[in-house]
Amino acid sequence: MNGQFFISLLNPGIGLLFATAFFLLWLNRRERYVAYAAGAYTASAIAFLILDVGPVLPMELQRLPANIGFLATGGLFAAAIIKRYDLPVPWRTMAVTSAVSIAVFLWFLLVHPSIAGRILSISIGAGVIAATVVRALWPIDKPYLIDRVLFWVAAFSALNLIIRPIVLLSLRGGFDNYVGFQQSIYWTTVQFTQAMVSIAAAISLMVAVAIDQIAELRRQADDDNLSGLLNRRGFEAQSGDTLRRCMKDDRPVALMVADLDQFKSINDNYGHAVGDAIIAAFGAHARRIGPADMIAGRIGGEEFALLVPGAGIEAARQFAEAIRAGLAAACTDRIPAKLCPTVSIGIAIGAPGTDLAALMADADQALYEAKRTGRNRVRAFTPKPVRLAARGQ
Ligand code: GH3
Ligand code: MG
Ligand code: MG
Repeated sequence: MNGQFFISLLNPGIGLLFATAFFLLWLNRRERYVAYAAGAYTASAIAFLILDVGPVLPMELQRLPANIGFLATGGLFAAAIIKRYDLPVPWRTMAVTSAVSIAVFLWFLLVHPSIAGRILSISIGAGVIAATVVRALWPIDKPYLIDRVLFWVAAFSALNLIIRPIVLLSLRGGFDNYVGFQQSIYWTTVQFTQAMVSIAAAISLMVAVAIDQIAELRRQADDDNLSGLLNRRGFEAQSGDTLRRCMKDDRPVALMVADLDQFKSINDNYGHAVGDAIIAAFGAHARRIGPADMIAGRIGGEEFALLVPGAGIEAARQFAEAIRAGLAAACTDRIPAKLCPTVSIGIAIGAPGTDLAALMADADQALYEAKRTGRNRVRAFTPKPVRLAARGQ
């Protein structure tokens, strides 16, 4: 037993550790991409064990399952990254690449024995599999740092797997036997870079799992399940940002506050479930007819806020009218038409320097006017005329 033996344990050890970690993560988050990652590290641990630690088969023969294991590792890890983006996993390309790799490997094993040929066949095959990730991720948005890290880990792996064997073999020439191979600079660099890439890839993917989990929790914390819109917290966070952006770009922006009319009596007369169905219908109705960049939330029991970037007073009026007039039809999918309430809507238009709280107060005042003047109508906030005299002119 020598130092080389312990170095040999490095890759199986890393594989087993990460396989366990991803398996535990998968128990918590039943996401398929996490399971693929656990599978990739299991395959890697087995492949390295077969290769370095337990020579049960004759030297030449045990390369075959080990190399199949390496290709499986590459395929499963590639699938994990691609699946995280809900993109189609190119299983066929990966299977064909693996089959060609193994066929070429067998040819260099049985027909025209060459260690260099076998190295190139497997390493380049794995590199092509890594390149499928680069190809899948190339055209999509990579908004977060972690998305770019995953992309570059895949790109580096592809380059490492394709270029390294070509460079090292051309520098060194071939190998006469496996004993020379296992003690070669080539195999030492494989073990070292493989360990590094493997750790970098696993940590990146674990960070990605954590970020996805946080994003999911944040989404849940900001959503209102009943209406399918944001809740008050989510609405304030998102519309605050959008409002600031509109003000900065000198873009018009409209805020509407809608309140269902005489809603308490519907609850009292027909039950809470009918009330809930109406809230859900209003949410779906607003989403359906509103523009894609509208920020919509249920900010109270039967009160909703809609922030529409780009809308001036006329567009806002038209939109509010469409919401009001279309509500009855939107309700009839869920409840008898005669139970559907009307809605009152107040509009306020953003002016330079407005913040969300001020805009909400203005829209609330307009809503109050709509209620006061008979409900089932749209009112826009009109600022009180400035008294020039007060400024001493
Ligand atoms: P107005 O026209 O002045 O707005 O009268 P209203 O009855 O709609 O207003 P009020 O504020 O008196 O009543 C609101 C009711 O909304 C009270 C409550 O029973 C009901 N409500 C609040 N949240 C929910 C909810 O999540 N589900 C249901 N079903 N009802 C709710
Ligand atoms: Mg109401
Ligand atoms: Mg209310």
